[in-house]
Amino acid sequence: MKENNLDLQVILDKAKSGRELKFEEIYKILTLKDKESLEQVFKAAREIRRNYFGNKIFLYGFVYFSTYCRNECTFCYYRKSNNKSPRYRKTPDEILQIAESLMNSGVHLIDLTMGEDPAIYTENNFGSLKEIASQIKDQTNLPVMVSPGVLPEDEVLELEDCGADWYACYQETHNRDLFTELRVNQSYDRRMETKMLAKNNGLLIEDGILLGVGEEIEDRVNSILTMKELGVHQGRVMSFVAQEGTPMADSNTPPRREELLVIAALRLVLQDRLIPASLDVDGIEGLEDRLNAGANVVTSLIPPSSGLAGVSNSTLDIDEGHRTVNGVQKVIEELDLKIAAPELYKEWVETKKMNLNHLDRDVIVCRG
Ligand code: SF4
Repeated sequence: MKENNLDLQVILDKAKSGRELKFEEIYKILTLKDKESLEQVFKAAREIRRNYFGNKIFLYGFVYFSTYCRNECTFCYYRKSNNKSPRYRKTPDEILQIAESLMNSGVHLIDLTMGEDPAIYTENNFGSLKEIASQIKDQTNLPVMVSPGVLPEDEVLELEDCGADWYACYQETHNRDLFTELRVNQSYDRRMETKMLAKNNGLLIEDGILLGVGEEIEDRVNSILTMKELGVHQGRVMSFVAQEGTPMADSNTPPRREELLVIAALRLVLQDRLIPASLDVDGIEGLEDRLNAGANVVTSLIPPSSGLAGVSNSTLDIDEGHRTVNGVQKVIEELDLKIAAPELYKEWVETKKMNLNHLDRDVIVCRG
């Protein structure tokens, strides 16, 4: 698709009035380059964020509890055959201790993440995942997100009963051919269907994309619209960062302008949903720009000295303590934003989950 002559302010006014943007309108936004237009887009994204969330920002604690994985995603540091990546598997006690320290520091959610660890997937030991999710919920009384890869169907059905509120599963691209190249020997459809299954069974869902992995601008637009169609409750974008020991080790990271534009476009399209500013790409240095582009969740907070890794930047800013609530508070407040009270986040989660139940009931009524 070529650059189009659509009027930017007309597109932004349309988004601000709550109307849905079309493919070519989102495309126009993602191809902008001049500073003035970028600032116009970010300003509109901030206005929409303010309408739904006021000046409140949510914070997620990240517990990457196993870096073992049976898969070979080409972009990933933790792909099975990469002998350069640090491998660890935290014990239940260690995970609980970390979750408690995150809770005490003031995060709003515990994100329990792992690779598709063979000790769980091959050994069919999903009980350990459910048990730890349940214990974290009991101990912290915070909403829990699980990001464990593509779980078997019957395990997804049990997640909510175990205390999970969210199921995060990133497609990384919604271009099927590119997906096949990136997520070697994995099923595009199964990944999508598992998210829908989770949503149909009472969980909030998150999908996300990586930028700079061979996609075109059209693919980015398609991803944004697909996430809208899926009804994701959280939509994330991250810039690809090359990882030592992987097939993409020599690939370039894209200009950050592109990630900021996707964050803003996600806000214009998903409006009342959560859009993360991940500390995992550029650390604390990149937080201000991402919040200014319309993000409203700071993700990947990690306690210092916990021995935990990040996903794309495995050590960035962790032991310096910049990936803590204290570390991000100053940046948030300097932007005239505020860390939300934990009750506000819980209320948001509960309201969205109640809406899910109502929608489910609607579906049953229609089918009947
Ligand atoms: S992206 Fe996830 S599934 Fe793929 S190799 Fe990395 S940890 Fe495994």
